[in-house]
Amino acid sequence: MFGNLSDRLSDTFKSLRGKGKLSAADIDETLRDIRRALLEADVALEVVKTFTGKVRERALGDEVSKALNPAQQVVQIVNDELKAILGGEARKLAFAKNPPTVIMLAGLQGSGKTTLAGKLAKWLKEQNHTPLLVAADLQRPNAVTQLQVLGEKVGVPVFAPEAGNGTGDPVKVSRDAIDFAKKSQYSVVIVDTAGRLGVDQEMMQQASDIRDAVSPDEILFVVDSMLGQDAVNVAKAFHDGVGVSGVVLTKLDGDSRGGAALSVATVTGAPILFSSTGEGLDAFEPFYPDRMASRILD
Ligand code: GDP
Repeated sequence: MFGNLSDRLSDTFKSLRGKGKLSAADIDETLRDIRRALLEADVALEVVKTFTGKVRERALGDEVSKALNPAQQVVQIVNDELKAILGGEARKLAFAKNPPTVIMLAGLQGSGKTTLAGKLAKWLKEQNHTPLLVAADLQRPNAVTQLQVLGEKVGVPVFAPEAGNGTGDPVKVSRDAIDFAKKSQYSVVIVDTAGRLGVDQEMMQQASDIRDAVSPDEILFVVDSMLGQDAVNVAKAFHDGVGVSGVVLTKLDGDSRGGAALSVATVTGAPILFSSTGEGLDAFEPFYPDRMASRILD
């Protein structure tokens, strides 16, 4: 992940470091390199434009011309702006004042929602929450069983339609789950919803019906980092169709070029809250934009 982008940026900065004072032409050349590197990494064009615009404005300003080490200052600016497009300051999961906190997971099929539900449940349980998992993906064959297996592994109960996979009404199951969670005093409810292979009106409608039924405190858009340029359109569709309060990047362990990671926070206006780096239940962590920016510029 980010290997190519990191190398490209590192080369760009190397040639910049050889210079003392930086002219506007030096800065424009650097920006051209950065722009090309980001586009090759599949970062969305609109995000690249905003990013390079901000870097340019600052790089041509006083902070660089007056700096003792102008090249280093440009690197610092790039670092700051990378952090900004990754969402700025890290944000924690929002918990409801009156439990249960309801977390709804939305995203395309295969993005890693069900796996994430298990990881999130485990992580919350380790912090002394009492989570309840809800199987509202009644579309994908086996999604209910998959969640039940995960629930068993992490010791978290799963609320599911009695007849199992592919049966029942996901909106009713979700609503009943919230009633059950209130009665049984679960502190967090994690609702796994159905995805499709591509953006689809019926999926969006179902997700927004579930949203209306459960009034989530967080709607986490789960996105496969390998999605590349498409990630932006999918993110926008979920943002417009369902609403997104936070993003989870999955499959960061893959050899994605990083574009999705660098685009989704900007296009949804929602911060990245977690990242997932493998199939195992522990391959999951809160997301820190500053650490990710440093990793890219390492
Ligand atoms: P869903 O359709 O959105 O519920 O997706 P699943 O949770 O079933 O995940 C789809 C596939 O991706 C499964 O084979 C998961 O094991 C795998 N997967 C999920 N998260 C990750 C991850 O972070 N890294 C890798 N390498 N695989 C993952």
